[in-house]
Amino acid sequence: MPIDELVPAACAQIPDFPQEGILFYDVTTLFANSVAFKRSIDELADRFEGTYDIVAGVEARGFLMAAALAYKTGKGVMTVRKAGKLPRETFQAEYTLEYGTAAIEIHKEDIPAGQRVLILDDILATGGTVEAAISLMEQAKLEVAGVGFLMELDGLGGRSKMGDHRVESLSLTT
Ligand code: AMP
Repeated sequence: MPIDELVPAACAQIPDFPQEGILFYDVTTLFANSVAFKRSIDELADRFEGTYDIVAGVEARGFLMAAALAYKTGKGVMTVRKAGKLPRETFQAEYTLEYGTAAIEIHKEDIPAGQRVLILDDILATGGTVEAAISLMEQAKLEVAGVGFLMELDGLGGRSKMGDHRVESLSLTT
């Protein structure tokens, strides 16, 4: 099965979660599926080969993707965390979700300026989360090598918030 069909097929789809009108794509079933998980990580590795020095995952589902890809390609992992979790000085960026508002953070000065960071998250919806993650990398003077997703929800305008950065989504769905 082609990857753009495998990814949505491997996700459970829950209508009206966490609130009415949202069709929630539950990627935990994809992570639990050894074939779909491996094929997804291998595909991201192929698409971004040679373009990054470190992989950033957005809490929490992005962590699983970033850890797997970084390990496979011999890189380190950077955790983009929800506000209030990191113990040292942070850069912070706020964003609006499809269902609420939040803020994310990274530690200051953990990664040397100029490193090329590949940002991973499970789903590109409105784009607010990863737009905020990009802003964190810019605050830290890191270069965004690209952004990668398992799934992109068409029609929510997320891609337009990624600026000129390279965007790779393994599947496009409504
Ligand atoms: P956004 O900032 O709107 O692009 O939202 C992206 C984040 O919210 C991702 O980390 C997803 O995990 C989560 N998310 C947004 N919409 C959905 C959805 N319909 N199904 C599952 N997760 C979603």
